[in-house]
Amino acid sequence: MKPYTGIDFYRYAGQLTDEERSAQQTVREFVTASFLPLIRTHHAAGTFPTELIGELGAMGLLGPSVSGPGCPGLSATVYGLICQELERGDSGLRSFASVQGSLVMWPISVFGSDEQRNKFLPGLAAGKLVGCFGLTEPDHGSDPGAMATTAVKDGTDWILTGNKMWITNATTADVALVWARGPERILGFLVERGTPGFSTQATKGKYSLRASDTGELILAEARVPDANRLPDAVGLRAPIACLNEARYGIAWGVIGAACDCYHVAREYALQREQFGQPIASFQLVQRKLVRMLTEITKAQGLCLQLGRLKEQGINEVPLVSLAKRNNVAMALECARTARDILGAAGITDEHSPGRHMTNLESVITYEGTHDIHTLIVGAEITGIQAFR
Ligand SMILES: Cc1cc2nc3c(=O)[nH]c(=O)nc-3n(C[C@H](O)[C@H](O)[C@H](O)COP(=O)(O)OP(=O)(O)OC[C@H]3O[C@@H](n4cnc5c(N)ncnc54)[C@H](O)[C@@H]3O)c2cc1C
Repeated sequence: MKPYTGIDFYRYAGQLTDEERSAQQTVREFVTASFLPLIRTHHAAGTFPTELIGELGAMGLLGPSVSGPGCPGLSATVYGLICQELERGDSGLRSFASVQGSLVMWPISVFGSDEQRNKFLPGLAAGKLVGCFGLTEPDHGSDPGAMATTAVKDGTDWILTGNKMWITNATTADVALVWARGPERILGFLVERGTPGFSTQATKGKYSLRASDTGELILAEARVPDANRLPDAVGLRAPIACLNEARYGIAWGVIGAACDCYHVAREYALQREQFGQPIASFQLVQRKLVRMLTEITKAQGLCLQLGRLKEQGINEVPLVSLAKRNNVAMALECARTARDILGAAGITDEHSPGRHMTNLESVITYEGTHDIHTLIVGAEITGIQAFR
C-alpha cells in the first residue's frame, strides 16, 4: 500500500498558511512513525498509549490554541488540522487531545484564576499532567442540566457527592474538572488525584474507542478547597462552552478517520482482483470511492470556513453543531463503505476501517449525539426548541 500523503482533492492546502501546512505535516509524520506501529496492540488490549503523552506535549499538540502559561496559543485552524491528523491514527488519540486541550486546559484558561492557570496549564500543555472532564452521569447524558452531583459549602471547602460516567482519561487523570450543582447554579471544580473521597474506575468491555481510557469518577463526599473552584464558571453555559470548543475539534478530527478509510479502500480496490480485474475497475466500487471523496471534500471545506470564522471571533454553537453532526455521520459512512470495499478482509484489525467504524459509533454519541445536534440547529433556524 502506498504511504498516506493526505487527501486534498480541492487543493485546500493552498488556502493554509505556511505555519498551518507545517503543523499538519509534522503531526502526519508523528502519527505514521510513532502512533500507527502501536495502535493494534493498544486496541487489542483496550489501553491508551500513555507512553506517547510526553511526546504529544513536547510537540505542542495539547491545547495548541489555548492561551496561558506554557500554552502554544496557535490558531483555531492549526488546532483543527492537528485534530484531523491525530484522528487519522485513531479517534482515541484525538479524544485524548480534545479532552486535555478543549475540555480541561481551555476552561482553566477562560474560567480559572491566575493561580489555577499557573498551577495547571504548564503541566497539562507539556503532558506532565493529564486532565479529564466530568459532566455526564449515569442518569443524565443528553440533559446534563438535570445533573444529580452536588457541591455543598463547608467552611472554605466544598463537599462533592455524585458519580460521573463515560469519562475519557478518567483513570489516567491527575486532575478532573467536575461539574456539580451548587447552592444556586452549576459550578466547576478541579478535583486533584488524591483528594479524600475521590476515586476512579475503568469502564470495561468496550467495543468502541478501545484505545482510549474511559471510566467513572466517584465523588463520595470529596472535599475540595474553594481555591480549586473555577471562579468564572457559573451555570450550565460554562460546560456547554467547553463542549463547543471540543466539538469544533471533533468536526475536524473525524475527517482524518474518513481520509484514512478512503485511502485504505482505494489502495485495496486497486490491488484486489475479482473476475480477473481489479475491483476498482467496477463501476459500483468507483461510485463508492467517489461518494467518499465527495463527502470528505465537502467536510474539509466546511471545517476550513468554520476555522476562519472562529479566528474572527464567530464561534456560535449552532455553526459548530452543524459541522459536528455532518462530519461525524460522514466519517461513519466512509468507514462502513471502506469496510465493505475490503470485503471479509475488512473485519479484522489488519486494516483500519473496522476500527474507525467502531470508534465513530462513540464519536457520533459523545459531545452531543447526532440527534441532539439536529435539535440545536433546528432550534436555531425555527426559533422553536424541540428538546421536549
Ligand atoms: C467513549 C465515550 C467517551 C465519553 N467521554 C466523556 C467525557 O470525557 N466526559 C463526559 O462528561 N461525557 C463523556 N461521554 C458521555 C457522552 O457525552 C454521552 O454519552 C452523551 O452525551 C449521550 O448521553 P447518553 O449516553 O446518556 O445518552 P442519552 O442521553 O440517554 O441518549 C440516548 C438516545 O436518546 C436520544 N435523545 C436524548 N434526548 C433526546 C431528545 N430530547 N430528543 C430526541 N432524542 C433524544 C439520543 O440522541 C440518543 O440517541 C463519553 C461517551 C462515550 C461513549
